[in-house]
Amino acid sequence: MIRVEFLTKSFGKLDVLKDISTEIKDGEVVAVIGPSGSGKSTFLRCLNLLETPTRGRIYINNVEVTDPKCDIQKVRQNVGMVFQHFNLFPHMTVLENLTYAPRKVKGVSKAQAEEKGMELLERVGLAEKASVYPSRLSGGQKQRVAIVRALAMEPEYMLFDEPTSALDPEMVKEVLDVMKSLAQTGITMAIVTHEMGFARDVADRVLFLEGGKIAEDAPPDVFFSTPKSARAQQFLEKVL
Ligand code: ADP
Ligand code: MG
Repeated sequence: MIRVEFLTKSFGKLDVLKDISTEIKDGEVVAVIGPSGSGKSTFLRCLNLLETPTRGRIYINNVEVTDPKCDIQKVRQNVGMVFQHFNLFPHMTVLENLTYAPRKVKGVSKAQAEEKGMELLERVGLAEKASVYPSRLSGGQKQRVAIVRALAMEPEYMLFDEPTSALDPEMVKEVLDVMKSLAQTGITMAIVTHEMGFARDVADRVLFLEGGKIAEDAPPDVFFSTPKSARAQQFLEKVL
């Protein structure tokens, strides 16, 4: 479980996250939505300390990651992250992208890492791309590789920050389909997305961020049909 208590993040005088408290339970799929600049990326990045919270505490599996004594590298092994821009290692083949961290960080053997890597590539329909370099892939293929590269570490948690926002429209579905089947495996996921149909279908809960606060926390059917706040109503009128 991820537990967030009174999380505040400021950049200089700018208060980006304001006293946020919430939980993401094991196996839960949480969609984080909200206007641009509302703090969605900062929220996600605070969870694995890519940003250092200004105040508040974050616990992952009951380990306080905001404790200065916490071994954050160890925690991050258990928290995969996928960004808008795929960030694949350009000088490595697809399979090398998948095997690098398990070998380097976890000490998995080359043979085992490659076997697992090929399994993962098959799962996303990209086994035949194992030996090509990322520059030869489409955006959708790159993002599917980025997802399975994170999965190669066998994390319990996956964080996605607008994984389809940089893709051409015809490639969005292939990535959402991968995320949808991943959600069905029971892995815990937090997904910042503008794909409202996906959020409605796949998420167990929607967190609506506005001005650095959680303005709404509701199951998708409730959020999309009867949003409580005027802000959420306005947002949905624009995007639906
Ligand atoms: P969202 O992902 O919802 O669009 P962000 O979390 O990226 O929002 O950003 C929220 C606010 O914080 C924005 O005003 C943004 O300009 C500001 N911000 C984000 N990262 C930084 C940073 N590293 N330094 C200064 N301001 C930042
Ligand atoms: Mg963002």
